[in-house]
Amino acid sequence: MIKPTQAQWNQRIDDAQDHTHDTIGGVRYARIAYGMDYPDGKAKCRDCAVEHGQLHVVGCCVERCPRCKEQAIGCGCDEAGEYRLQ
Ligand SMILES: [Zn+2]
Ligand SMILES: [Zn+2]
Repeated sequence: MIKPTQAQWNQRIDDAQDHTHDTIGGVRYARIAYGMDYPDGKAKCRDCAVEHGQLHVVGCCVERCPRCKEQAIGCGCDEAGEYRLQ
């Protein structure tokens, strides 16, 4: 995979801010923005580099699942195939 440029990554961060909700198992959930409540609490997300109050870039390994509050990738909530971005 080719590493995206900073400009391309900034565009992805912008795009991510439009995806405010996920639908999991037919229920609509507000996505969880990066913030002080994250365990490491750093100024920027260590994976996708969003700042406090911003939504993670899709696929960020730090993002929490709004349904179970576990790590969004690999929590299993989307295994029914009903998980989609909105
Ligand atoms: Zn992130
Ligand atoms: Zn989950």
